Amino acid sequence: MERKLIIANWKSNPATEKDALRIFRGIVAGVRKAKAEVVVCPPFVLLSALSHVAGRMSRVSLGAQDVFWEHGGAHTGAVSPEMLANLGVKWVIIGHSERRRLGETDLDICRKVRAAIAGGLKVILCVGEPLSVRKKGISVAEQFVRKQLAQALACIPRRYPFPSERLVIAYEPVWAISTNRKAKPDTPENAALMIAYIKKVLRSRFYILPTVLYGGSVNTRDAKGFLAHPGIDGALVGGASLKPKDFTAIVRAVGSR
Ligand code: PEP
Repeated sequence: MERKLIIANWKSNPATEKDALRIFRGIVAGVRKAKAEVVVCPPFVLLSALSHVAGRMSRVSLGAQDVFWEHGGAHTGAVSPEMLANLGVKWVIIGHSERRRLGETDLDICRKVRAAIAGGLKVILCVGEPLSVRKKGISVAEQFVRKQLAQALACIPRRYPFPSERLVIAYEPVWAISTNRKAKPDTPENAALMIAYIKKVLRSRFYILPTVLYGGSVNTRDAKGFLAHPGIDGALVGGASLKPKDFTAIVRAVGSR
């Protein structure tokens, strides 16, 4: 891909609109000259406030952290793709390991991917193996990720017009995500090998060649190693994305215009 893509996943933070606007404005100002494309994914309830700022500043777009697969109706608490698109939201994270841990199934994920694309959103589909799998070796980890990809895309009809630019994969080894007690980032070399494998699977099985990001404890010290690697198309950043100074330093590791 031409420009690296960097996604901020704010998870369940911050608690107030005031803090969200402060962080968001800091990010928008800090990444103005960066060569990367930047997406910020706040909690649902903050999307509306941020959309007013994002609308005027096109360098940073907005994403949601989840979506429901129905397009409206009697589904208490659910947010449809259309609701997000109507707010100016362009992206949605689907299948994050923290949601899978809460019970989200492969079928749920597949329905969400299908509905999000049909609703005009771009999908960031998260895959990645837990530590217990990785300990069995890289080829077992590859098979685990291959199965996650196959199941997440299984309900999409073969003849579905599936434009590659609507699907981004985030390879996030669960053991590398900073909220895990013993987390440590993968190495750029190992992450790039798994990313190359993901691209091979998607090309041969689904005839698509999507952007594939790395996610897991990316910080100001290690960002350059990941982002300078030609095989890694960008990063999904959790904890560090809530600190505008750190996040903009990560984005600027790509270089400036
Ligand atoms: C994430 O949760 O998607 C993530 C990458 O988090 P962190 O950067 O904090 O490891």
